[in-house]
Amino acid sequence: MNKTEEIFGSLVFDDRVMRERLPKPIYRALKRTIEEGKSLDKSISDCVANAMKDWAIEKGATHFTHWFQPMTGITAEKHDSFISPVGDGSIIMEFSGKELVKGEPDASSFPSGGIRATFEARGYTAWDPSSYAFIKEDTLCIPTVFYSYGGEALDKKTPLLRSTEELNRQALRILALFGHTDVKRVTTTVGPEQEYFLVDRDLYFKREDLMLTGRTLFGAKPPKGQEMEDHYFGAIKPRVAAFMKDLDEELWKLGILAKTEHNEVAPAQHELAPIFSNTNMGTDHNQLTMELMKNVAIRHNLACLLHEKPFAGVNGSGKHNNWSLSTDTGINLLEPGDSPQDNAQFLLFLTAVIKGVDEYQDLLRISVASAGNDHRLGANEAPPAIVSMFVGDELQAVLDSIEQGVVMGQSSKEDMKVGVHILPRFPKDSTDRNRTSPFAFTGNKFEFRMLGSSCSISGPNIILNTIVAEELSQFADELEGAEDFTSALTALIRRTISEHKRIIFNGNNYSDEWVKEAESRGLLNLKSTVDALPYFISEKNVALFTKHKIFTATEIQSRYEIMMENYCKTLNIEALTMLEMAKKQILPAVLSYIKDLSDTAAVKKQLSSAMCCDAEEALITKLSALASSFYKKIEALNQAVLGATDFDDIKAEGTYYHDVIFLAMQELRSVADEMETLVGDKYWPFPTYTDLLYRV
Ligand code: ADP
Ligand code: MG
Repeated sequence: MNKTEEIFGSLVFDDRVMRERLPKPIYRALKRTIEEGKSLDKSISDCVANAMKDWAIEKGATHFTHWFQPMTGITAEKHDSFISPVGDGSIIMEFSGKELVKGEPDASSFPSGGIRATFEARGYTAWDPSSYAFIKEDTLCIPTVFYSYGGEALDKKTPLLRSTEELNRQALRILALFGHTDVKRVTTTVGPEQEYFLVDRDLYFKREDLMLTGRTLFGAKPPKGQEMEDHYFGAIKPRVAAFMKDLDEELWKLGILAKTEHNEVAPAQHELAPIFSNTNMGTDHNQLTMELMKNVAIRHNLACLLHEKPFAGVNGSGKHNNWSLSTDTGINLLEPGDSPQDNAQFLLFLTAVIKGVDEYQDLLRISVASAGNDHRLGANEAPPAIVSMFVGDELQAVLDSIEQGVVMGQSSKEDMKVGVHILPRFPKDSTDRNRTSPFAFTGNKFEFRMLGSSCSISGPNIILNTIVAEELSQFADELEGAEDFTSALTALIRRTISEHKRIIFNGNNYSDEWVKEAESRGLLNLKSTVDALPYFISEKNVALFTKHKIFTATEIQSRYEIMMENYCKTLNIEALTMLEMAKKQILPAVLSYIKDLSDTAAVKKQLSSAMCCDAEEALITKLSALASSFYKKIEALNQAVLGATDFDDIKAEGTYYHDVIFLAMQELRSVADEMETLVGDKYWPFPTYTDLLYRV
């Protein structure tokens, strides 16, 4: 075994370890639980817990934790040691099935959107055996779900698991119609490509905005940006290369399939892409990847920025959610087939996605909505805020011919039947050309490209799974009762294409024409988080979630409130940080430069009244005017922040933050950025964009 093979998964209690360490019947029972979602017997959990503990201790672990994903978007853990007193002053290392299966973290400080405040402060964690336990820094981490006393989900994992179960159920109904009774399970697969920035850690600590908000709230554009296009896929700097090597190793130890590392478009920007896995594991792995990126960066005296838009005027960072459906028999359901029957099945899944994306554009938009991502969507670097789908010319021609009922390659109108007539093959690589589409079919999967870099992929996948489950359930209802399956199938696919083709757009999504065209097609353009979020609680969407038991009405309301609150809090922190930097750093720096200029001019005049002081005087005049305007804008932002009280509801509060505070922030920033270009380097109180983007 080479080193990579040896370390890969070495810190994971995976199938290999379970088979090795668990008695056969226990192993089989656990496998059944994992694969079919069956509940576990207590005797089994005791045995698994013991094996896990022995394994973890051998690997140097001293603690265990229930690792969960609360609504903060990051992961949470509370460490307990394995020690247990024996009575004679010594200890033994213990870990019971009860401790493995259920935990009770003090949950009162996690966001709940009012769910817990009303009756019970307690929250519980429960083991999710479908994602492997692993060791992180001497602690055995057990992936868990997190829920309230009343059983409501307080995390991002529970609804994800519910949605994959539901999609499985509905997809199996469809597969049965095509005679695939051998398939026992359909899962969704995901491969999230992750973008990030690396900056020098010493410089990072000199910027309060980066430390407190993750992005620069001030900063003039550097003389050199990304216009030379010399960073993308360029040679990787030694310090960054060392970071990537180290990161890969840490990820591999956790069984994370880190595959590709490269430079991205903007200076100091990079990307990591893993090999895809099932959605539950993929989501856990993406959370761990983000955490490790930050931690490994520290070892290299770097700071990893996962904010969607750390630098104004420079590309921001996103995440591409590659998504597909796969059977336990190894078939990718979004892979076009070779026979007419296989193609018919592919087309049915494809049209389910088309219909789902059209009917639930709002939910897809909401699943990527955050204050940070608002800086990217529609800003000529990320897909716009308008949700549409790209299918490519070849597949478009197939859809057109089905809709028109014309057999391709024949001029006469024949009654074209899906599942009977042979469709042309659509070459895979020709479908991936359009990089501007928010939702692109890329040959055998969909690539949802609107996610921000810090987004947990859980949200978007909950929505994808749920909307496709809904469409498949409608399709199954219709087809299960059909007298002639082939005719009913053809009619259904044809009708669906015709009713939902408005969502397909194969052109340039960044163009202004598309914005107009989309409007005329009746597509939504929800520009900001505040515009988008209220759709989450619309009647249509509540009906969808409750029908498929993804969220209860209470859970929907609570999540809506958490997301809106999060938006307001983010802007509030940003505004306060700006005020502090403006008053305590920028204004004093500018005034001290003005003073030195004035002193210089005065000294020169003393030497000789004929001495030319044009440069000093011009700068003093210009900067004094800017400083005065800056002071007024500080006052304006201050007033805006003070005015953020007494709202009727959370929506009004969000709207105020968006319309009033965000605007005042932008106005303050623009004066500061102009002053930065005029003030001497040694006066400017923190590192500039050039320092941050190029000194790595
Ligand atoms: P690119 O987007 O750069 O063209 P690829 O097509 O190789 O790159 O894949 C990008 C990502 O898509 C990778 O993370 C890969 O693992 C993932 N991916 C590939 N196939 C699937 C699939 N069937 N389901 C989910 N993700 C997939
Ligand atoms: Mg991609």
